[in-house]
Amino acid sequence: MHPELCGDSKPEGEHQARYRRLFARRLLRWFRAHGRRYPWRETREPYRIFVAEFMLQRTGAQQVLPVYMQFVKRFPTLHDAAEADGKTLRGILWPLGRVERYKILRRALLYLAGELKGKLPSSLKKLLKIPGVGPYTGRAVLVFAHHRRLGLFDPNIYRVIGRVFGFVSTKQRPHTDSSMWRTVDDLMPKGRSREMNLALLDLASTICRTRRPIHEKCPMQDICAFYGRARSEATHVH
Ligand code: SF4
Repeated sequence: MHPELCGDSKPEGEHQARYRRLFARRLLRWFRAHGRRYPWRETREPYRIFVAEFMLQRTGAQQVLPVYMQFVKRFPTLHDAAEADGKTLRGILWPLGRVERYKILRRALLYLAGELKGKLPSSLKKLLKIPGVGPYTGRAVLVFAHHRRLGLFDPNIYRVIGRVFGFVSTKQRPHTDSSMWRTVDDLMPKGRSREMNLALLDLASTICRTRRPIHEKCPMQDICAFYGRARSEATHVH
């Protein structure tokens, strides 16, 4: 247990708040040194952010990278992309697998360029009306394009916060659990949601992996419930 959290006689709520702040500080520091760089992380352009988030749905960043680069080179603006025919989009999106998603992207681009007059909405309710946009993608657009203080939640982020804090969803499909979404929202320090979400995604994918997490390189080692338990079990066995 980290000394900052030891011998704490403060009420539970305050203790939790300190725990969350410590987690955020550690994670942001780690991210500054180890965060991954992708072109969609460098842009503030809503159209590019939307395209990237759409492609990243259930697809790894390394697989998305060349496809995204080709896409934005070929279609530098939303207007260009909305004019593309299905066959062209299909060809570009082909390496991502789940080939039929080009149809959804096409519908989304037409909806954005037509119905929404080229403007990505800043309300989740409106974003969810765009074809192919679910709660994760909608929130990602709000965080990365509109700088909103919101957390992203997917199985990878669930794994990290579940391990560190011991959070467990009561739902069989945790991503449908609104209390989990609120939990990640609470982890976001003011004005730092963008980096914090990216940091969580990077920690999940490079350190706190599903199999063989690299505890020894993790900045959360001494405050992680999962690691603490694993260590004490190992001590008792020996
Ligand atoms: S200490 Fe291990 S289990 Fe805990 S967050 Fe880090 S990598 Fe994951």
